[in-house]
Amino acid sequence: MYFTKAKYGSPVKGNMKTAIYPGSFDPVTYGHLDIINRAAKLFDKVIVLVSINPAKPSCFFTLEERIAFIKKSVTAQPNIEIDSSDGLLVDYFRKKEADVIIKGLRAMSDFEAEFQMALVNKDLCHKAETVFLAADAASTFLSSSMVKQIAMFGGDVSAFIPHAILREVQEKLEKKRLEITGK
Ligand code: ADP
Repeated sequence: MYFTKAKYGSPVKGNMKTAIYPGSFDPVTYGHLDIINRAAKLFDKVIVLVSINPAKPSCFFTLEERIAFIKKSVTAQPNIEIDSSDGLLVDYFRKKEADVIIKGLRAMSDFEAEFQMALVNKDLCHKAETVFLAADAASTFLSSSMVKQIAMFGGDVSAFIPHAILREVQEKLEKKRLEITGK
């Protein structure tokens, strides 16, 4: 279907649609991967953006580790890119000439902060539309912080994070526990 220029400003058909999926991914979980894969079916290009979130200044894993974890976890697809940014999301959005910001919504608890962020981003950059994807029922309870808490105490997190990063994540968290508790 063609949209007429008179009604919508510019013809839409044929345009590449780029979506940016920002987050701290500390570490990436099956919940994040579900959103990435679904977004990749909806948009021509998805950029997974590992960003510095002032609301979560102290990530456990370094930026490089978080990027490497995503690279090891995402099945290579030509329309998925992984990048990082330490600036404003809307500046990156403009630089990439993106169309949409993707957010995953797990529960009402995610909603208020994400809604506020969507409004702020739209205010800063009129083109920055946020699209919310509902979390998959199986991962709606899943968060990176939950994974870290379980793994730090030697619990099994294999149902929550990809096999390719499991050992590395567990080893670093168990080392941290040793530092803290001495046992
Ligand atoms: P977290 O909130 O777990 O620390 P991030 O900051 O990395 O995670 O989250 C990045 C984006 O992914 C946010 O939009 C967040 O709501 C979404 N997200 C996080 N975990 C899940 C999940 N289990 N299912 C769906 N979306 C998720």
